[in-house]
Amino acid sequence: MDMPAVPRIKAADTHRPPGALNDEDLLETCPGCGDCVEVCPLQIIELDRSRLPALSAAKDCTHCGLCVDVCMFGALHHTPETQHGLAEVLRLERDG
Ligand code: SF4
Ligand code: SF4
Repeated sequence: MDMPAVPRIKAADTHRPPGALNDEDLLETCPGCGDCVEVCPLQIIELDRSRLPALSAAKDCTHCGLCVDVCMFGALHHTPETQHGLAEVLRLERDG
């Protein structure tokens, strides 16, 4: 029986957005669309020379999960922190 594919997510000390695939897989998956750059409320994502998302200030990331949510190419995957962060963002939007 085939095992389900598990995304190879980069370690937590990455300079990539949370839940990003490792660089090898990211190169094959991310077309550099820039949607994550646009959506980050802290504007800490930029595209590097390979047009891959890189964090300019990783320590400032709040793990809000918006970059993961907007990525349509499967290059970013939710972590427990971003899942919680996105739930909080949605709750705040709903409750004001
Ligand atoms: S939204 Fe996804 S595919 Fe687009 S640049 Fe960001 S990581 Fe890459
Ligand atoms: S999780 Fe939120 S704060 Fe962190 S890089 Fe993504 S959009 Fe920006």
